[in-house]
Amino acid sequence: MRLVLLGAPGSGKGTQADLLKGRYDCAHISTGDILRQNLKDKTEFGIRAENFMNRGELVPDDLIVEMVREKLRESGVADNFLMDGFPRTLPQAEALEVTLLEFGRPLDAVLHLKIEEELLLRRLTNRRSCRSCGKIWNALAMAPGTTTCLACEGELYQRDDDTEPVIRRRLDVYREQTAPLMAWYEKKGLLRSIDAVNSPEDTFKEIQAALAR
Ligand code: AMP
Repeated sequence: MRLVLLGAPGSGKGTQADLLKGRYDCAHISTGDILRQNLKDKTEFGIRAENFMNRGELVPDDLIVEMVREKLRESGVADNFLMDGFPRTLPQAEALEVTLLEFGRPLDAVLHLKIEEELLLRRLTNRRSCRSCGKIWNALAMAPGTTTCLACEGELYQRDDDTEPVIRRRLDVYREQTAPLMAWYEKKGLLRSIDAVNSPEDTFKEIQAALAR
């Protein structure tokens, strides 16, 4: 299975990627996670990306495309993968199409997680991530004052770019640069729209039904 997960920040891409990975045993390519790891390791790439990320802007296409191509060259990855957070611009989508053509491994489907903006803002300002296992939690759904991960007891933290002004900028960037990809993938007959307002489990059921169709 070769899939792309598209959706605004906070639409649940990371959570659905975890569920899909468990079900289909595919490589998970999250450009956001790779960038955050580079930032943590203070690589040259991470240092170049940090400024863009902290402002809620996109990292330049050429850097991101090269990062994804490198990942796809790893053994077996191009056969069976799930992209989360990539592509985010039309040039990235075009570069992905060309790359996958070179590998002879076209996409099977593009899943669009649909959700309205007010809900996104509420979800993102309350999002907490685990430093140890990376699992994502909603502070509103946990007992007040919870500071450790319910799965592994690692420390929970709020991402630097999950503050309201940066979230608003990320949503603007999504509307301007990423939303046009829906029409592009629709024309190619790859787009499957999923209602992402319900619980993660219900959304996952919808995804499975869409993939079975
Ligand atoms: P995410 O975790 O997917 O929300 O990504 C966090 C940040 O990483 C984004 O706000 C961008 O600054 C950067 N980023 C992640 N994926 C991409 C991409 N495909 N193109 C450009 N920038 C990206």
